[in-house]
Amino acid sequence: PAMLGILGGGQLGRMFTVAAKTMGYQVTVLDPDPYAPAAAYADRHLCACFDDQAALAKLAQCAAVTTEFENVPADAMRFLAQHTPVSPSGDCVAIAQNRIQEKAWIQKAGLKTAPYQAVCKPEDITDASAALLPGILKTATLGYDGKGQIRVKTTDELREAFAAHGGVDCVLEKMVDLRGEISVLVCRLNHDCALTFDPAENIHENGILAYSVVPARLPAAVQQQARQMAQRLADELDYVGVLAVELFVVGDEQTLVVNEIAPRPHNSGHHTLNACAADQFQQQVRIMCGLPPADTRLLSPCCMANILGDVWREDGSEPNWLPLQTDKNAYLHQYGKSTARKGRKMGHFTVLADDAGQAFATATKLHQLL
Ligand code: ATP
Ligand code: MG
Ligand code: MG
Repeated sequence: PAMLGILGGGQLGRMFTVAAKTMGYQVTVLDPDPYAPAAAYADRHLCACFDDQAALAKLAQCAAVTTEFENVPADAMRFLAQHTPVSPSGDCVAIAQNRIQEKAWIQKAGLKTAPYQAVCKPEDITDASAALLPGILKTATLGYDGKGQIRVKTTDELREAFAAHGGVDCVLEKMVDLRGEISVLVCRLNHDCALTFDPAENIHENGILAYSVVPARLPAAVQQQARQMAQRLADELDYVGVLAVELFVVGDEQTLVVNEIAPRPHNSGHHTLNACAADQFQQQVRIMCGLPPADTRLLSPCCMANILGDVWREDGSEPNWLPLQTDKNAYLHQYGKSTARKGRKMGHFTVLADDAGQAFATATKLHQLL
């Protein structure tokens, strides 16, 4: 069987590996962590850094290569692309890694963002910046789960926040009147061959995704528009693979603005494992092999709930899985991480139900019983 390569062996890499193996491929995982969740399933685990030349040379022998790790060096991907098909491209990954470039591309695609400006040096903070207050100063790179963000109300606070970020490149974004958050996964092979999954309604707790409810409880026209926007952005990027597009629902008019993108399968797409015709990892496998995406159809309303290390006991013992394990509409996925830490994603579960509201209610109840 053909050998597929993946940069990164976290839970996304693990679920990718399971999908690829099931579909008849072998998998090589590159990840510096000897206990990387994907290692248990991979045919080969290259335990090395993402810029390790010898490891990259081995990965370059794979039939195709993809990534699950947001901050993989784009140059490593560009090197690999000289030897084997790499999707998404290093260029697309580089854009998603930098909020300044990312927002420029969103606008280039003719889509709205929250009002923003780049702040790369103290002089970038001008009188005009006041129009973006109250706002959020986000580091241009390396932020996730709300890390690297400082909320600011005044120009003085903005200056302090920029200094607190250490003077690195930032984006100042105006606070929008957030009525909801959704995400759309695009599965794109080429311009003529792209499909989107139904938008997921995302509910965060402490800056971390807690629940994704599908279908999103929004008017059909808004959902349709979200799918079109995500696909337009993928087209503009000439993206190949699975792309996650996060959108804000703003104001009474429920205007959609693009928040950010992730160049990979996404936490808000984990419900596809149990509730869709094909799941997001199968789609990634298909597309990297040059095959068209399969049907994205939602088979049942559902709610995905993340399980963080927070629900482990003080003494390190596991949560009470039994209520989850005995509910016939709940599907538990564990990522095989040895140590549970606060805020660490240890697993998730998906509940299927007759409608989205009921799925969400059951998921929150089961989560409380952990
Ligand atoms: P992720 O883990 O999704 O990659 P992140 O650290 O990259 O998160 P963002 O998605 O940019 O951060 O923002 C985190 C959350 O902060 C958003 O989901 C949203 O709830 C809130 N937020 C971000 N920007 C704005 C804004 N301009 N106005 C209002 N709320 C915002
Ligand atoms: Mg992000
Ligand atoms: Mg986000």
